[in-house]
Amino acid sequence: MLRSVILAASRSTRIERLVETAPFTRDVVRRFVAGTATDDALRATRQLVADGLAVSIDHLGEDTVTGEQATAVRDEYLNLLGRLADAGLTPPTEVSVKLSALGQRFDERLAKENVRAICAAAEAAGTTVTLDMEDHTTTDSTLDILTELRKDFPGTGAVLQAYLRRTEADCRDLATAGSRVRLCKGAYKEPESVAYQSAQEVDKSYVRCLNILLSGPGYPMLATHDPRLIAIAEDRSRWFDRGPDEFEFQMLYGVRPDEQTRLVEAGHTVRVYLPYGTDWYGYLMRRLAERPANVAFFARALVSR
Ligand code: FAD
Repeated sequence: MLRSVILAASRSTRIERLVETAPFTRDVVRRFVAGTATDDALRATRQLVADGLAVSIDHLGEDTVTGEQATAVRDEYLNLLGRLADAGLTPPTEVSVKLSALGQRFDERLAKENVRAICAAAEAAGTTVTLDMEDHTTTDSTLDILTELRKDFPGTGAVLQAYLRRTEADCRDLATAGSRVRLCKGAYKEPESVAYQSAQEVDKSYVRCLNILLSGPGYPMLATHDPRLIAIAEDRSRWFDRGPDEFEFQMLYGVRPDEQTRLVEAGHTVRVYLPYGTDWYGYLMRRLAERPANVAFFARALVSR
């Protein structure tokens, strides 16, 4: 219930303005976002890499509405990839991209051109791109664009969301040699017709999907903070005899850092998803929806205005 309310608020510009000016906002944002500038992303990446972690950087922003905005997002990724290469951080750093930030919702052709330019820059920098997955209305378009991109940039990664009923079938399609698939639970508010609604159903789907991915020849990227799912993934990775170069765990910046360290010390590859930029509202609200303890803290800040 609370999750639905917060996810609905994540689409409201009125609440966005209220949240942006709330007194405690900066502290909450700082916990989940590296900063607003490219330099902030580089600084945080250096620290994570020094701690033995791999990184996927996301320039915050989604649902752009003009060609100029979409092109500006593309240019920031090109700039970021150049800076990462100059700093010797590619690998282990890659980038995550939301197609809606590149124009997908109003001009799919433009989004394709933009993402292609980012993939080419990533290849020149010696790294890869993963296409974030957004709400279910974009799943087919995103997977179609992935298929096209992989012809020229075979390392391009996909994201599949265990809460969608279709995802088991998508996992079977994508569990092929050379494919990189990030499996997450899913962060958007979705209708019952397309998505499992209970946590238990989503978790069961996640386990079915991770079994498909770990038993196939691709490279699974298991994105979760859920202790039970991590334990199952560790167990199944042993069962399928997967070494640290054959799959990875992924977690969000600022979430369960101790667990990230534990997994690295246990010999696993762990990649941290590191967002930066000024357009943090939608991202922050999805993180709050996942964690009621953070919401109580934040609600007090709003009420005290
Ligand atoms: P949950 O059931 O949400 O949490 C399990 C436990 O983890 C909690 O009990 C708590 O202990 C801890 N925890 C979880 N979240 C938090 C938090 N915010 N603060 C503190 N502790 C927390 N979703 C998409 O829809 N598309 C994407 O492209 C996408 N990319 C992602 C990339 C990465 C690397 C990760 C880690 C997640 C991504 N997600 C994406 C979000 C994902 O779908 C989930 O919404 C999110 O990961 C929470 O699910 P969970 O598996 O951690 O389990």
